[in-house]
Amino acid sequence: MKTVSDYFGSMVFDDRVMKAMLTEKVYSSLKKTIDEGLPLDESVAEAVAMAMRDWAVSKGATHFTHWFQPLTGITAEKHDSFITPSPDGGVIMEFSGKELIKGEPDASSFPSGGLRATFEARGYTAWDPTSYAFIKGKTLCIPTAFCSYGGEALDKKTPLLRSMEALNKQALRILKLFGNNDVKYVRTSVGPEQEYFLITKEMYDKRPDLRFTGRTLYGAMPPKGQQMDDHYFGVIKPRVAAYMEELNDELWKLGILAKTEHNEVAPAQHELAPIYSTTNVATDHNQLMMEIMQKVASKHGLVCLLHEKPFAGVNGSGKHNNWSMATNTGINLLSPGDTPYENAQFLLFLCAVIKAVDDYQDLLRISVATAGNDHRLGANEAPPAVISMFVGDDLNAVLEAIEKDKPYKETIDKMMKLGVDVLPAFRKDATDRNRTSPFAFTGNKFEFRMLGSSNSIACANIMLNAAVAESLKIYADRLEKAKDFETELHKMIKKTIKDHKRIIFNGNGYDDAWIKEATEVRGLSNYRTTPDAIPHILDKKNMDMLTAHKVFSETEIRSRCEITLENYCKTVLIEANTMVKMAQKQIAPAISKYTATLAETIKVKKEVDKTIACGYEKGVLKKLSAYNDNIITKSEELREALIKSEEIEDVIKQSAVIRDKIIPMMGELRAYADQAEVITEKSYWPYPTYGDILFSVR
Ligand code: ADP
Ligand code: MG
Repeated sequence: MKTVSDYFGSMVFDDRVMKAMLTEKVYSSLKKTIDEGLPLDESVAEAVAMAMRDWAVSKGATHFTHWFQPLTGITAEKHDSFITPSPDGGVIMEFSGKELIKGEPDASSFPSGGLRATFEARGYTAWDPTSYAFIKGKTLCIPTAFCSYGGEALDKKTPLLRSMEALNKQALRILKLFGNNDVKYVRTSVGPEQEYFLITKEMYDKRPDLRFTGRTLYGAMPPKGQQMDDHYFGVIKPRVAAYMEELNDELWKLGILAKTEHNEVAPAQHELAPIYSTTNVATDHNQLMMEIMQKVASKHGLVCLLHEKPFAGVNGSGKHNNWSMATNTGINLLSPGDTPYENAQFLLFLCAVIKAVDDYQDLLRISVATAGNDHRLGANEAPPAVISMFVGDDLNAVLEAIEKDKPYKETIDKMMKLGVDVLPAFRKDATDRNRTSPFAFTGNKFEFRMLGSSNSIACANIMLNAAVAESLKIYADRLEKAKDFETELHKMIKKTIKDHKRIIFNGNGYDDAWIKEATEVRGLSNYRTTPDAIPHILDKKNMDMLTAHKVFSETEIRSRCEITLENYCKTVLIEANTMVKMAQKQIAPAISKYTATLAETIKVKKEVDKTIACGYEKGVLKKLSAYNDNIITKSEELREALIKSEEIEDVIKQSAVIRDKIIPMMGELRAYADQAEVITEKSYWPYPTYGDILFSVR
């Protein structure tokens, strides 16, 4: 029997394959490009392309594609076959260095937010050698960045790579000051925990809302939801286990380090977490993972829902972005070290994150803002829309001691040695946990918990890397000029704590009292919805920071602002349209049919005996008739409001109308339908109920 280690990465052109198939010279040159970002030689590209082709063809591949991540949030590919006619009437398999390095897809239909007029349809894809090529089906996929003719980024990878470079540059400056001259580069790492729902295809196919929007737009709660907490970490059902088994196999073949799987809180909800990797690779892998999760599900007669809130009333799905910074020499910069200097260095990097999260709360919030995630953030299972940080009691005590120049009281045996003279000692292992914080320190990494399950993790990491790069830059600028390094270092750590401690909150983030304190006392921002949040990307401080670190150009920021809001509007308008159709074509007629049956029953009963009261039939008939009138009135109002809002050209205005008018109207319509569902005889209801769907997989 084949073991996992036999086939792990078998579909990846990874380091093992490169070493085996490339000459030493080509290999070491490519490695320099991958590790240190040095430009790639044309002859090297030619040799790599040849090796890639031979390898891919030997694995049965017939096509290649530049695989990229346009601003639709999903991946895109356009396949070309390797074949070239040969003079004898046959074909040979060809793939050149040029084809590897650069592609030119007709890109006119991808969102560009005004960056590319449609007559200027050309877009370019450029090979990203830092992420391995892989085979999917019969196609060799080459991870690429995607940009316009004028060089503006049209994808999520380009700014992500730029943000990693910005952080690398500033972190190296700091490390040098601490005497770490051997470090060549600093990379950020991410381990994204992915939540999802699994339901049967049979149920899915019967619900237009699931098919068109990925979430249910109607549905009353079943008597049993997640009250018992019996699903969380519960025994995995055989059908789900079979799904997970095949999913793992497929992911492993692609070199994706699928590691942990378990049932989540809501019925039918599960989670899959890979082992962390470099942010760029983790992002590619997460996109692939989401795609393969859906593909494998369909083979099992299941559907994998990645929407943030497929069902009202039970938990939604998120993605936890575990993030850290590490050197090429293997040092995790967020891990408290063993020596005083490491200790001080750790505190400085920690402070850089604290400062970054406080200064750029809005950018972090913006980076996770989508119509789907708006249902989650602030609901009682997800972090609130207010950003705060959890550092744990131990670390908090250290920070307080530094701020107030008082000794740090040690209560635990295992203490670290005193830091750079003035810095207090602290315990190495902060083991306490907090599940309600949007941004939690978990020992040697931060866990950013606000991402939606369907989001690309690129956006959150772009903003996080950029913001931390900015803190590090401010520190490096001052420390490089300091006469006395240690005094300046201490001063700066102290100042950061003083200025930014408002962002630290170790209590229960789901508590209403916290939101009040956060916004009214601490002055933290609370952008509850996507239209509230997104326009702030254009605030001067944000524009200045992002452009200074060359993560985005000004035009790129404007285009992203527009595209994100456009996505929001389109998503909600499709949902609202679907609701109207469902109400008018199926729900109202179904209720009408059922009330007719009730009326008929009353009539027949009365014929038998006039004195029979028919209390049940009459009561339900009356209620349902009233609900149905409201369903029709509300759906008609919604339909008219939709037509009007579709005409608004300014996307900021349109998104505000959707938030303030359309979404509340959708809520009202749904409430009537859900009330009607509860008292309508089951066989009359046109859709499977929440109970049917949530407990469909056995
Ligand atoms: P949990 O959050 O459930 O306690 P873990 O702490 O084991 O789970 O890890 C969650 C995720 O964090 C995993 O994907 C793991 O690989 C990742 N992770 C662990 N260490 C780091 C690190 N230094 N940087 C980034 N991610 C990490
Ligand atoms: Mg976790």
